[in-house]
Amino acid sequence: MNYKNALNHTIFKVISEAAKDLNLDAYVIGGFVRDFLLDRGSHKDIDIVAIGSGIELAKAVSRKLPDQPKVQIFKTYGTAMLPFEDLEIEFVGARKESYNENSRNPVVENGTLEDDQNRRDFTINALALSLKESTFGDLLDPFNGVKDLEDKIIRTPLNPDITYSDDPLRMMRAIRFATQLDFEIEKQSLNAISKNNERIKIITNERIVVELNKILESKTPSKGFLLLEQTGLLKHFLPELTALKGIDEIEGQKHKDNFYHTLEVVDNISEHTDNVWLRWAALLHDIGKAPTKKFSKKVGWTFHTHEFEGSKMVYHLFKRLKMPLNDKMKYVQKLVFLSSRPIVLAQDEVTDSAVRRLVFDAGDYVDDLMTLCAADITTKNPKKFEKYHNNFKIVRDKIIEVEERDHVRNFQPPITGEDIIKTFNLKPSREIGQIKETIKEAILEGDIPNEYEAAYELMLETGKKLGLKIHEKR
Ligand code: ATP
Repeated sequence: MNYKNALNHTIFKVISEAAKDLNLDAYVIGGFVRDFLLDRGSHKDIDIVAIGSGIELAKAVSRKLPDQPKVQIFKTYGTAMLPFEDLEIEFVGARKESYNENSRNPVVENGTLEDDQNRRDFTINALALSLKESTFGDLLDPFNGVKDLEDKIIRTPLNPDITYSDDPLRMMRAIRFATQLDFEIEKQSLNAISKNNERIKIITNERIVVELNKILESKTPSKGFLLLEQTGLLKHFLPELTALKGIDEIEGQKHKDNFYHTLEVVDNISEHTDNVWLRWAALLHDIGKAPTKKFSKKVGWTFHTHEFEGSKMVYHLFKRLKMPLNDKMKYVQKLVFLSSRPIVLAQDEVTDSAVRRLVFDAGDYVDDLMTLCAADITTKNPKKFEKYHNNFKIVRDKIIEVEERDHVRNFQPPITGEDIIKTFNLKPSREIGQIKETIKEAILEGDIPNEYEAAYELMLETGKKLGLKIHEKR
């Protein structure tokens, strides 16, 4: 087959000519070819394999381009990167690889195109298009990758057991591609992943997280997490999630399986947001349930304070996986911490003061919190489902109403500590905190409006109750 039309961009002509000058063959390989055949939109990372020096080819290509873009050379890997327009073109010499037990970094020798295709992870990633003048656009597909694209199958070119054991990151990649593309992993491959799952331990957490993020960013992330769980991979890096698996039953009372519930929530939320951190919050919103699970005869299964435990666990989990310990982490923590609030609210009559407290506590995250909590409604009881969603609509409307009137989203107390000190001539003391707290509570309860005048009066009244003397009136 010929796919000249995949190579319309001028850069391919330039690479072809530069290769001819150097008297070597070059091919486009990997994701670019795969995504072209899948019609997934243009792939901005282009991988070029040269039968010879990839670095020399990159330099020769640069010399032929108008501004001669600077080639970045990665000596240790024998690769070079050339930025051109919005493209990043990676050059590598064809290679043959052999692995040893303890590292995913192979011993590398120069090789043929076939050797290079053999070292690729999946048949669909080993497709190459020729850049040679005489065969420009010809497809080289030694492992029937096109058929696997049509059949939607992830398969390794060589023995999967060896492929995954050699570089265990490929297990994550298999599951990630299956999730992104909605493909199935071929049976032998799936068995080989299960068999080799322990080998994931030699992969750094950073690389695992890259794949996890791509799974989470997919249309239906549950597909990937189910595969990670089934193959035994998940427990190695997210034991907090696998701990949610299972249903306990005592005296005929059961709780739901919180692992499968969680995956439903993640899929639900993915229909409403592309924010990967909000998706992380959905994934982690119930992790505090495993350590807080209790049974009592009176009330059955409880998970008291699981939101608080869960938010603490988020920190440890991010730290362990070397994820950023910044405002993204705090955002996830806060959403986990507040994740039960709106549903508790929606179970009863929705009061102004409860909504005001919610807005006060969630601040700018209140909209995302509502998205999370709507996704959390996975009840199969249609009456409850409707009731919760209707109540959520009331909560959402009230959030807007309360916010317009009371401005508590980023609450700044109308009376400051300074005001209190001056009025009663106080040294820093407990009473200042007490007065501030009383004013804040009164505003959130709706007893007074969020305004200076009313807050001032309440300050005087509270001070009097605490036995304080007015020193200076405003
Ligand atoms: P995407 O950009 O969507 O992640 P991609 O296929 O371009 O997809 P890259 O990680 O950029 O992914 O890899 C480029 C190519 O390099 C792949 O198509 C594959 O042929 C090869 N490759 C990448 N990682 C591995 C690996 N761990 N083992 C074997 N081959 C790999």
